[in-house]
Amino acid sequence: MRLAVYVHIPFCKRKCVYCDFYSLVSEDFEEYLSLVFEEIELYRDVLEESEIETVYFGGGTPSLVPPSFLEKILEKLEKVSKKFSPHEITIEVNPESVDREKLRSYRKMGIDRISLGVQSCDDEVLKRCGRLYDEKMIKEKAELVLEEFDNVNFDFILGLPGETDETMRKNLHFLEKFTPQHVSLYFLEVDENTTLHSLLKKNLLTLPDSEEVERRHDAFVEFLKSGGFSRYEISNFAKPGKESKHNLFYWRNHDYLGFGPSAGGHFGRFRYTNVSDLPMYTKMVKEKVFPYDYQHENTEEEEALETLFMGLRTKEGVELKRVEKLMFLVKKLQKEYACYVKVKDGKIFLSEKGMDLSKKIFEDLIEWYGEAEK
Ligand code: SF4
Repeated sequence: MRLAVYVHIPFCKRKCVYCDFYSLVSEDFEEYLSLVFEEIELYRDVLEESEIETVYFGGGTPSLVPPSFLEKILEKLEKVSKKFSPHEITIEVNPESVDREKLRSYRKMGIDRISLGVQSCDDEVLKRCGRLYDEKMIKEKAELVLEEFDNVNFDFILGLPGETDETMRKNLHFLEKFTPQHVSLYFLEVDENTTLHSLLKKNLLTLPDSEEVERRHDAFVEFLKSGGFSRYEISNFAKPGKESKHNLFYWRNHDYLGFGPSAGGHFGRFRYTNVSDLPMYTKMVKEKVFPYDYQHENTEEEEALETLFMGLRTKEGVELKRVEKLMFLVKKLQKEYACYVKVKDGKIFLSEKGMDLSKKIFEDLIEWYGEAEK
């Protein structure tokens, strides 16, 4: 089985106001390493049959832990799996916790892709979000990362508190000077469990106007395209050949295992999400129980639905033969969104305008599927 592996590193120096990822302010790295090892052991039979093609260290803040910690995880995966010859190993890093020494250690252990969490280049926006660095530090670290690696992603979030046309111009100027091979561009989503949600409720912070944010998003997309980036997924842009191989595993609905609290996996038709709670995760893993919060064996139809949803996020689209159980949905989609959906060479995909409308399209798909289920 071809497999992608995600390892969640749930530690951060401080919680950003908008963050709804599972992370905690702690430095108990050693104990965590032994837990990840235990969880890997729970999947020994799957791994012994698997060829690991990509690894992704996400968080949290993976650059916070000593590189030797990550190296031990890679060694463990190599030992347990049938074949370990990843085409891509990515690590997410934050400007305040990455330096040249760490970057060189990453390279030595085989990590070949860096994802730097920039989010915004404006000091005031960063301050309001509780990020621990400023524009000056971003520039220093971006330069460092681009010197050491030739496969680099910068993450940006649109719609953050304090964003204006001027702060957006700063982002684009930054990208003109420090050009990576990949850019992820997300819209801010305000989750109820975040500090940002309470600050907004108490009127202690405000968000920029959503139409203005849309307009800036469109300008950002145009900027990237004119710079030679291809929008190969709704929120992801890459120079030719620099698409994220790991994330393509998700979007193609292929097999992957996720380790750590809140991580998820999918193999065969089985899908799971781990508990988002380190003490609970610890207890379960120590008792040699899969630390699932959610687990489900998909029916063929559910599997096809997931394949359709994930694939429609991408420029390459979905092979129709993988979703033939859902032809009624495909036909309805073509009828209702004729200008936004294309079928070519046995694949269905969204046009660029369709990608911009994807939220509404996905809502409709769920509704139509639900109606057909009744
Ligand atoms: S650094 Fe990332 S994971 Fe950590 S709190 Fe901030 S947004 Fe969340």
